[in-house]
Amino acid sequence: MKYKRILLKLSGEALMGERQYGIDPARLAEYAEDIKAITDLGVQVAIVIGGGNIFRGVAGASNGMDRVQGDHMGMLATVINGLALQGALEDSNIPTRLQSAIHIDEVAEPFIMRKAVRHLEKGRVVIFGGGTGNPYFTTDSAAVLRAIEIKADVILKGTRVDGIYTADPEKDTTAVKFDHISFDDVLSKGLKVMDTTAFTLSQENQLPIIVFDMNKKGNLLKVISGENIGTKVNL
Ligand code: UDP
Repeated sequence: MKYKRILLKLSGEALMGERQYGIDPARLAEYAEDIKAITDLGVQVAIVIGGGNIFRGVAGASNGMDRVQGDHMGMLATVINGLALQGALEDSNIPTRLQSAIHIDEVAEPFIMRKAVRHLEKGRVVIFGGGTGNPYFTTDSAAVLRAIEIKADVILKGTRVDGIYTADPEKDTTAVKFDHISFDDVLSKGLKVMDTTAFTLSQENQLPIIVFDMNKKGNLLKVISGENIGTKVNL
């Protein structure tokens, strides 16, 4: 296996499957199966889950809601998704722990870096909910932050697109996919991989990012095995 400890970032929207809102249990079960395939090989898996399928602070603010309040709602949404993912993983007999950046002790452990690492060493999948615990951040920033803290080898950003393209492939048919691209080139070409805060944090800490299509069964295992799918961003 090319990677021993990974941080998998899943967006909240990914959990919707074919739905317009909320959580699709079938999609969760598919993800659990893919994750099991790599934990069975001894890969240590930490997951940061988004909340966009339920609530985004920016959307609330654009409707007149206080942004900080909206972001608190978004963070809680990520905890809801974390619980759903935890349930699906445990249905597949994968031991898990959910750690939250905001205290919600009856439902999740607090985030404690050393505890998270210990869980990983014991073969448990650790799900990080609550984002960074701060408004005005995103779960992409949380993913990079947690990945650095637990010393993950790589961030795997599972999306519905199979990598980074010269333009949005859903809008431009001439768009070409990169197999590999540097942090500097992503910035100079104005490509969108993560929000700028998250992306520069990754760059400054020389933490590679692989963007790949998580909705194709078996892709996660391929990435872990070092197969050249998706797009890798590094120095
Ligand atoms: N959020 C936040 N701080 C964080 C992470 C998330 O306030 O550190 C809030 C923010 O309102 C965001 C929402 O939680 O819109 C859901 O997260 P995100 O939009 O990153 O989810 P995704 O797009 O990955 O589904």
